[in-house]
Amino acid sequence: MPFLEIHGLSANIDGKEILNNLELNVDRGEVHAIMGPNGSGKSTLANVIMGHPKYTVTSGNVLVSGQDILGLSTDERAKKGIFLGFQYPTEISGVGYSHFLRNAYNILNKSLGSQQKDREVFLTVREFHEYLKKNLGDVGLDPAFLGRYLNEGFSGGEKKRSEVMQMLVLKPMIAILDEPDSGLDIDAVKAVAEAINQLINTGAAIVVITHYARILRYLAKLDNIHVMAKGRILKSGGRELAEELEEKGYGWLGLEDAD
Ligand code: ADP
Ligand code: MG
Repeated sequence: MPFLEIHGLSANIDGKEILNNLELNVDRGEVHAIMGPNGSGKSTLANVIMGHPKYTVTSGNVLVSGQDILGLSTDERAKKGIFLGFQYPTEISGVGYSHFLRNAYNILNKSLGSQQKDREVFLTVREFHEYLKKNLGDVGLDPAFLGRYLNEGFSGGEKKRSEVMQMLVLKPMIAILDEPDSGLDIDAVKAVAEAINQLINTGAAIVVITHYARILRYLAKLDNIHVMAKGRILKSGGRELAEELEEKGYGWLGLEDAD
């Protein structure tokens, strides 16, 4: 039984159907990429998994370790160890970066402690601060960021590095990363890929939504690439599929006939 199972998932927003009978299975330790044209529903899928209130699920289910999570609130899903790295991270003024992460980490330790044996317990603020500094360094961010508000005034690239830094710190069981590489220079793409590689080693189930083969080339493991169009997965394959898409675009897949 795969750790994350999505069966027959359909969802709409304001009555407009976006997800259409979508199937996806991701086991622990697996990395899946989702590619696909703009507007195909990739971010919607990420948001629906996380429980964004704007979307209405009309059929199907999302199971984590066999348990349907669609009835859970977003914070309950987060406590199960589901993490969403946003395509467009929000700036939250007034919420201190390190304070936020320390609270989130401690909450996860309480809820996941028994499931993830290697979670460290940091007894002091100073210990946690050192842990944050290490992870910041790993994604190429300066420790000075810890004194700022969450994402406030971060550049586009800093926000993307920050998203995967938060992921590294929190050590989720399931990570959905929505275009973690968009708008990044080559060094930043490498740093983001390295962060994902670190999470792979923890045995998390990982979904990377991207438009580019480049980040996928840096991933230490890639089990499947899925092409999404019109709210469903139309084709799946291995690494070669990303290269083929980069070369030929989506036209050859006949996505227009997908209805
Ligand atoms: P992708 O991430 O693949 O580019 P999205 O999931 O963002 O696609 O969007 C899929 C479709 O859903 C698009 O047609 C988009 O306009 C529509 N959509 C997404 N969010 C909203 C919203 N809040 N209101 C109306 N339509 C939306
Ligand atoms: Mg999107």
